[in-house]
Amino acid sequence: MPRPLRRLVGLLAAWGAAALLAEVVGRAAGLGALGGGDSARRRVALTFDDGPSERTPQLLAVLARHGVRATFFVTAPACAAFPQYLAVLEAAGHRLEAHGRWHRHALLLPPWQEWAQVRWHPRPRQPGPLLYRPPYGGHSPLTRLLAWLAGRRVALWDTEGRDWTGAEASTLARQTLARAGGGSVVLLHDGPAVTPALLDELLAGLRERGLEVVPLHELPPHRIGWREGLRRLQGSYGK
Ligand SMILES: [Zn+2]
Repeated sequence: MPRPLRRLVGLLAAWGAAALLAEVVGRAAGLGALGGGDSARRRVALTFDDGPSERTPQLLAVLARHGVRATFFVTAPACAAFPQYLAVLEAAGHRLEAHGRWHRHALLLPPWQEWAQVRWHPRPRQPGPLLYRPPYGGHSPLTRLLAWLAGRRVALWDTEGRDWTGAEASTLARQTLARAGGGSVVLLHDGPAVTPALLDELLAGLRERGLEVVPLHELPPHRIGWREGLRRLQGSYGK
């Protein structure tokens, strides 16, 4: 093999290894990112990704009926499409955090775009650490470094509502309830038609179990350590 080609193959292999490491350690284990909260406290955080959307008013109505507040990880294109809902969400006591300038996996963004991705936030001047939830939880080898440089905390989740699967609301609510417990961070989406009904049943079930629903920053989430990281790895690849 000619030397320049050998060098290129070596470079690609090194990038591939770093990308694999980012996927395993960054996304699947979530090491060092914010995960769930204290399991001894009877608190659960609800988070909605991908909004705002034409579904936002329905979600707001269900949340208001149950008297709970949540965290919305919004994207720049969705904010541009439904700007009228941002102030409504905040007025109702919900929290806005960042889900990116593009809804794209980190590995599909060149470094300069990922920098813009991580830096974007719908409310850059709000108090407290600003959170960034990468689309699909996807990490590139640079994600954590860029987040640190931008002053963002990467926030993941531990309980999926699976509202993108096409299953029925009560099935999804039952499965989500079975997986949730004290300290859980539940991931739902602002968009799917099933989510408002799923949310309604989920909130009733959580209350029955004596779990208080709070926005993510009030949980508050902990940094994911080695032990928790290993558990997440098992959940991600083990089943
Ligand atoms: Zn998303």
